[in-house]
Amino acid sequence: MTKNILIVPGDGIGQEVTAVGKKVLDKIAAKFGHTFTYDEALIGHVAIEATGNPLPDETLAKMKKSDAILFGAVGHPKYDNDPTAKVRPEQGLLKMRKELGLYANLRPIKLFDELLSASSIKPEVLKGADILFFRELTGDIYFGEKGRKNNGDTAFDLAEYSRYEVERIARKAFEAARTRRKKLCSVDKANVLETSRLWREVVQKTALDYPDIEVEHQFVDAAAMILIKDPRRFDVVVTANLFGDILTDEASQIAGSMGMLASASIGDGTGVYEPIHGSAHDITGKGLANPLASVLSAALLLDISFGMKAESEAIINAVDKVLKAGFRTRDIADAQTPADKVLGTDAMGEEALKNL
Ligand code: NAD
Repeated sequence: MTKNILIVPGDGIGQEVTAVGKKVLDKIAAKFGHTFTYDEALIGHVAIEATGNPLPDETLAKMKKSDAILFGAVGHPKYDNDPTAKVRPEQGLLKMRKELGLYANLRPIKLFDELLSASSIKPEVLKGADILFFRELTGDIYFGEKGRKNNGDTAFDLAEYSRYEVERIARKAFEAARTRRKKLCSVDKANVLETSRLWREVVQKTALDYPDIEVEHQFVDAAAMILIKDPRRFDVVVTANLFGDILTDEASQIAGSMGMLASASIGDGTGVYEPIHGSAHDITGKGLANPLASVLSAALLLDISFGMKAESEAIINAVDKVLKAGFRTRDIADAQTPADKVLGTDAMGEEALKNL
């Protein structure tokens, strides 16, 4: 197959980990006889520095033309500590999601057995947990009207959802449940929020088309608790933008580290594949970043955008072998890890490539 992949490393460790993800894609192309062509584009702080715009028109045009996007992260401490900054790196991310119509964020949470001890949750509670989150991306409190009143002393953010927005992500989640353990949990706050009452109504109606799927509804506070107490109870989870943002970071701890988790943002056009972590300026430039989330993002890209199941599995198996051989980056190492098995970003990437 011939495919055009856009590499968008963004800021901080995004640059370091995406370089590893791209090498893995290259090796897959060579091994399986595909031709991947690449282009690169700016987003976030690096784009603001170069053009004044966190999502330059040139980047957007390249994104729309590509078959899939391997993304790094955006963010810089300069903006994190300055809430008054009008132009911000994350505006690039939000605009990209809107412009590409990326309404579903998929986060597979699966723990490699070798990392059971890296999680802060007890191994006997965790072993076998395998959850696929669908977080809605284009609606909710992030995109509604926001502002200040009473001379700036009162602030408001409006949460909004339409029937159409809820139904299209619910359908994606039901379809995914069909390929897994056939269970779907919809998370909302329908006891308090009107948007959640619409959410639940639409999910219940959509469920009529999927009688083979077992559906449950949980309030977000209960879901947050169950995720830690009994994560194996979940198969596919579908939820709104804000709840999904929080729950998926909580769930990342099941996998031991943010450095291990990949995500896919999909709509009806080009998909974006990225680690769930941010730009991590505390470790940027030190060669400490775990590149495996970017490597696993490349695996998701091949699977979801190109339908390359065998290629995707080859990457996941390579990661599994590296971990079985005892190699760790610092974020997933523990007191028992021998010093010579603790690797930096590039060395971990090389190990993954060797095992492909
Ligand atoms: P972060 O994910 O960047 O880092 C949180 C912690 O996890 C840090 O201690 C970091 O060192 C560690 N970490 C993250 N990824 C790692 C990896 N691959 N290997 C090893 N350790 C890793 O979150 P933060 O510190 O809250 O935010 C930093 C910046 O990133 C902020 O500007 C934030 O806005 C941005 N951010 C961007 C995205 C995105 O682009 N999708 C997501 C989250 C945060």
